[in-house]
Amino acid sequence: MARIVMKFGGTSMAGIERIRAVAARVKREVDAGHQVAVVVSAMAGETDRLVNFCREASSLYDPREYDVVVASGEQVTSGLLAIALQAIGVPARSWLGWQLPIETSAAHASARIETIAMDAALATGEVAVIPGFQGVSEGRVSTLGRGGSDTSAVAVAAAMKAERCDIYTDVDGVYTTDPRIVPRARKLKRVTYEEMLELASVGAKVLQTRSVGLAMKEGVRIRVLSSFVDGDDDTGTLIVSEEELGDMERQLITGIAHDKNEAKITLTDVPDRPGAVGSIFTPLAEAGINVDMIVQNIAHSRGSTDVTFTVPAADLARSLDVLTKAQDAIGYTGLVHDPRVAKITVVGVGMRSHAGVAATMFKTLGARGINIQAITTSEIKVSVLIDEDETELAVRVLHTAYGLDAEEAA
Ligand code: ADP
Ligand code: ASP
Ligand code: MG
Repeated sequence: MARIVMKFGGTSMAGIERIRAVAARVKREVDAGHQVAVVVSAMAGETDRLVNFCREASSLYDPREYDVVVASGEQVTSGLLAIALQAIGVPARSWLGWQLPIETSAAHASARIETIAMDAALATGEVAVIPGFQGVSEGRVSTLGRGGSDTSAVAVAAAMKAERCDIYTDVDGVYTTDPRIVPRARKLKRVTYEEMLELASVGAKVLQTRSVGLAMKEGVRIRVLSSFVDGDDDTGTLIVSEEELGDMERQLITGIAHDKNEAKITLTDVPDRPGAVGSIFTPLAEAGINVDMIVQNIAHSRGSTDVTFTVPAADLARSLDVLTKAQDAIGYTGLVHDPRVAKITVVGVGMRSHAGVAATMFKTLGARGINIQAITTSEIKVSVLIDEDETELAVRVLHTAYGLDAEEAA
């Protein structure tokens, strides 16, 4: 008997027919003698709908109440799956975040899981159906940030020392890039935690970034697979350690991701003197705004420079407010912003030992007339900022340039 966690995403839970299919899949694992905990998402589109209600009610909503509203989607699907399991003879019980409990930090809307108690749920011998995305902080419901059910699943798997954590979604694994944008994207049989962490953090939303970080730390075995196709144990994508990934499978570039959720800000004529850049980024940091890419141009002859950087699009309005208030302290003359940008990132551990990855990227984009507005690099990734309208084209041409295209369209 193995302990396994099965997580089903929004598309898999969208409607009673699909929930019945999920129940049948869970039953197969139970019949095989495994002890199963299931983590579920809200029905596809439901969380967006609930978020929009909050925004409509007030643009400055209280995050505690936002959590009360948005956590409800998963409450519905966990109850429905427990009913569907019982209906086919599988003893099952839902356990909401406050019931297990899943204790989180107090950062409502982006809380971190601190502890999970699984003993009571496991002791019953029934299938525990756990709503993802939610927890409890100081007696109030909390949520983990969008896509957070993946993190709930990994945390549950770590808490019950599960042999594996199967993430069922609407694609049959992790691909070299979003298969919805590039039909020739190739499925990766295995990908390292480190690369998956980078891919997720730069926009591959197939797994929430935190879930990968947690799995890496806790040694949880994640498999990503489709809830719509049946396969054997070898289907899907396994997330593995670098040691486990054989040399044969090692590639220069593992994948390409894109992110349209950043906005660009440029401050013109910032005085070119020590401390100037600090005076820009300190008030942003104090406001809790995460700055991503940064470019400081060479100084103008008049002793000033332009500084360009990106912030999450959701924080653009607040960033502009902070920077306007700090104008005298910073000493810039112009403040320009553009939300219509996209960040394209190529990721691969092979970059550590191979030169020329960035050059290929710049040359390929240049040949298509795609202008690069900012660049950042780290040990295993290169990101560029481009016009949002060119996202799909850029991802496609880079996918071909790095030799990632599958033989035949998927
Ligand atoms: P779920 O509701 O199951 O959590 P998500 O929509 O959060 O599903 O994540 C699955 C989606 O992630 C896919 O439909 C796909 O469009 C997208 N995606 C982005 N990048 C990748 C990638 N590299 N490989 C696979 N899917 C990706
Ligand atoms: N339902 C939540 C969301 O859409 C959490 C999740 O599905 O992972 O963000
Ligand atoms: Mg998801």
